[in-house]
Amino acid sequence: MSKQQMSMVSLNNFIAGRDRPSLGSATLAVTTPFTGKAICAMPAGDEGDVSAAVSDAAEAFQDKRWEGLAPSLRKKILFRWADSIEAQAAALDQLDAEDMGKPVSVAAFNARSAASLLRFNAESIDKIFGQTLPSAQRSLVMQRWAPRGVVAAITPWNFPTFNAVLKMAPALAAGNTVVVKPSELSPRSALELARLAVEAGLPAGALNIVLGKGEIVGKALSLHHAVNMVSFTGSSEVGKLVLGYAAQSNMKPVLAECGGKSPHVVMDDAVDLDAVAAMVAATITTNQGQWCSVGSRLIVAESIVDELVDKVVRGFERLVPGDPLIASTTFGPLASARQRDRVASYIDGARRAGARVIGGGPSLPEEGGCFFAPTVVIAKSVDEPICQEEVFGPVLSVLTFRDLDEAIRLANSTAFGLLAYAWTSDISTGMKLSEGIRSSVLLNAALPAGEGPGHGFSSEPVGESGMGMEGGVEGIKSYLRRQTVWLNF
Ligand code: NAD
Repeated sequence: MSKQQMSMVSLNNFIAGRDRPSLGSATLAVTTPFTGKAICAMPAGDEGDVSAAVSDAAEAFQDKRWEGLAPSLRKKILFRWADSIEAQAAALDQLDAEDMGKPVSVAAFNARSAASLLRFNAESIDKIFGQTLPSAQRSLVMQRWAPRGVVAAITPWNFPTFNAVLKMAPALAAGNTVVVKPSELSPRSALELARLAVEAGLPAGALNIVLGKGEIVGKALSLHHAVNMVSFTGSSEVGKLVLGYAAQSNMKPVLAECGGKSPHVVMDDAVDLDAVAAMVAATITTNQGQWCSVGSRLIVAESIVDELVDKVVRGFERLVPGDPLIASTTFGPLASARQRDRVASYIDGARRAGARVIGGGPSLPEEGGCFFAPTVVIAKSVDEPICQEEVFGPVLSVLTFRDLDEAIRLANSTAFGLLAYAWTSDISTGMKLSEGIRSSVLLNAALPAGEGPGHGFSSEPVGESGMGMEGGVEGIKSYLRRQTVWLNF
């Protein structure tokens, strides 16, 4: 621990409804990428903290202090919590902006949308029920949904408030108790969310937060025998480790929402190229390209590539880079110096492989050193890392195709399968694309976010993008197990 860290305010874990200092003495600094300065210290994590939180959550599950409440009361508590998240939305967005650079002006996946996501989950509490199966006379076969028990939620840094609620809300709506391990880059909003939950009436112990490094706290949670499910969002690399920990311990189910390399497939059949270019430029720069379903590959008909790339690069000029806390800023720094170096190394590699690299957008602040300009890379081969690996930054790789089959082949050419955007004015071509592409497909559309389909849709990733269902009512069922009761009478 450095002298600076010793004098900084240190965050505590949140266990059994109150702050609890870590049992370990090692700390980490939380720094803001805009200035590169430390904001506070946090525990590096300790397996003892994990045991304390899990045993507390297990006790809270066993005595049914949450699951046992009337559904109407559980709804009321979650609604009250949603109201206070909404009331504190500006403060939560500010914490995330400071911790990892998401501009407060960016509405996508902000605290307000987290509040409405929580309401969607609360509303579903009394709308998920089991089935009675046809059976022989004098027998009754019931299938009911039962909560799984203690759910460990491991979250990434890219939308800290939203991604935490995306796990907390369905896990709690299903009647489980939860231990959340937020990313060490952005731990503060999860703590605030847990405090607001307890103030709203969530019983102590139903929602706990344990801070620390992934390889200590995330690993200990995933290996813990009293944890009944892990809900993980993060990189495919760590997702695979978590699956391994589950296998090594109690074979707990794992919901894994991992990396992506989503393509924009653009046909040459008279789509509105200005509109497509605006969407491509917007998706690759939202949150500085740091979101799982970002359209990071442009797969475009050979005849229109130059025109489209030119329009996309011009679209970058509309960005307003700067302090993510200022309302006019639309483009902040990358989340950390490490992330910036990672993104830069992909560009260096692409240059070495002979790709054409086009930087764009207005000039960037030098402060903090974590800004990275939106960049287009015209690749020579689909096999290059820039076309295959998740960069997680404002970097768009470009490949061209000559016909529909080649477009589909390129779209499916990575290990990932999260989402694809397809642009065509021909409905029949659009349907052929959506049949051929293995991930979920948005046809001439942006990702639905917020009220309505934004909260209601669930999709299942394929390949190394993960496994299991997140989102919507089906997503709540991921946190329930199906129990059969067979009664003869
Ligand atoms: P990451 O995999 O590095 O970390 C995610 C979480 O796992 C963090 O809390 C981290 O501390 C923890 N962790 C790290 N090592 C661990 C270990 N050995 N055992 C258990 N936990 C461990 O990911 P990140 O850099 O925080 O986030 C970016 C990644 O998240 C990208 O790959 C992005 O695509 C993915 N993501 C996916 C979705 C989705 O819905 N598919 C949504 C958001 C982000």
